[in-house]
Amino acid sequence: MTSGRGNSCDVAVIGAGMAGMAAALFAAERGLSCIQVGSGGGILFASGLLDLLGVHPVAEGRLWRSPYAALAALAREQPGHPLARVDPGAIRTAFESFVAALGEAGLAYAPLRGRNRSVLTALGTLKTTFGVPLSMVAGANLLEAPGGRQPCLLVDFRGLREFSARQIAATLGDRWPGLRCQRIDFPGFEAVPELYAAHLARALESGETRERTIALIQPLLGDAHAVGLPAVLGLGHSRAVHAAFEAGLGLPVFEIPTMPTSVPGLRLLGALERVMAARGVRRRHLSSVRALARNGNPGTMTLELDGVPGGERLSARAVVLATGRFSGRGLTADRGGVRESLLGLPVQQPASREAWHQRDFLDPSGHAINRAGLRIDAAWRPLDASGQPAMPRLYAVGSILAGQDWMRAKCGSGLAIATAWAAMEQVADHLGGAGAG
Ligand SMILES: Cc1cc2nc3c(=O)[nH]c(=O)nc-3n(C[C@H](O)[C@H](O)[C@H](O)COP(=O)(O)OP(=O)(O)OC[C@H]3O[C@@H](n4cnc5c(N)ncnc54)[C@H](O)[C@@H]3O)c2cc1C
Repeated sequence: MTSGRGNSCDVAVIGAGMAGMAAALFAAERGLSCIQVGSGGGILFASGLLDLLGVHPVAEGRLWRSPYAALAALAREQPGHPLARVDPGAIRTAFESFVAALGEAGLAYAPLRGRNRSVLTALGTLKTTFGVPLSMVAGANLLEAPGGRQPCLLVDFRGLREFSARQIAATLGDRWPGLRCQRIDFPGFEAVPELYAAHLARALESGETRERTIALIQPLLGDAHAVGLPAVLGLGHSRAVHAAFEAGLGLPVFEIPTMPTSVPGLRLLGALERVMAARGVRRRHLSSVRALARNGNPGTMTLELDGVPGGERLSARAVVLATGRFSGRGLTADRGGVRESLLGLPVQQPASREAWHQRDFLDPSGHAINRAGLRIDAAWRPLDASGQPAMPRLYAVGSILAGQDWMRAKCGSGLAIATAWAAMEQVADHLGGAGAG
């Protein structure tokens, strides 16, 4: 819409978690100049799997094969849920666009076919998700094969923390008789007692280490139809490393996400940073927003930044709040209640602290505190105490929104991507023609 200059832009996005990244991407794709403020958020801890909606209702723990059927049920039964407010067609487009951008940045995902997939976790459980990195999809294909689960070899590395192929095989054994496990030394790290996934991922970008690893696995294949490995197949060049393993072993190879901080989380963050750079989003990743105000000119807002010497002041025609919940610091909780950190916006929350949690911590219906957040109007603008938009061009997206429990509903990325898309539609609409960036 306008080419941004210096410290002014059409849209300032506060937050660089999944929701902030999605909002900045969609702003840039709509031709809006964008400045994004904040560091990586929960992405570093993410598995690389993009959940859309896996569980509904949360209290029943019902898993859905089709996330779109789940969304339809959500819209009927919980119309106030932020995901239920986004048109399913728009969600489809938003996901396609997000995944395409990641693919351009070198992080390929399996084609989205409108259905949820089952993916093996490091605990040996199955996770229901939607967007699956190409490096993990052979595992999902194997798990879902119509003729039953074919023999498979899981390999781990001596000394790799918190990843045991034996534990996965033991957990799944009775449901997957042909699942075998083997442990090997990681070439070049034989004498290292404790290995870290990111180090192995970097080491496997060297052709020599890759070939030595493949040569160690080759004699163990037996009747395996596929090979599962911890998610360490490269960092910035994961596509090439994965392809080299498949070619070298002559079988489908799949990664299993490891515990946070995970290599897939690092890859996702790296890819999103490349996407931002390619789309011309100006990032202030070492800064945070200290204050936000409407300034004298009714069409703009001013953001005061910390984190750079002397601070910085930005001017934006619209602002998207994507500051997350408690871990992102968008919300804080104390004895007096839950507060929105930046502007003190009213937070929808239980009437008293006693109502924050169920008596049973593992209660399947979850805890009311996890559904606390900002109330918004139909245009994704957070409301003030009188129920009016707090500012005419302030929008809120992602996990800071009220009425959802993304962790239990398995809708983290879905919530981020869908709400960012829907809010950015409103932003573009409100900003209309020429910009002032
Ligand atoms: C352990 C873990 C596992 C996960 N696994 C999955 C998974 O398997 N599948 C999936 O789909 N998703 C997963 N997620 C990610 C999840 O989708 C997102 O974390 C969630 O959607 C929240 O994203 P968000 O952007 O709303 O908030 P956050 O990720 O919390 O980001 C908030 C951002 O706001 C910034 N911020 C806060 N205040 C300010 C300020 N004043 N100025 C500037 N910046 C500010 C923070 O620094 C941060 O960048 C996982 C997350 C975690 C933590």
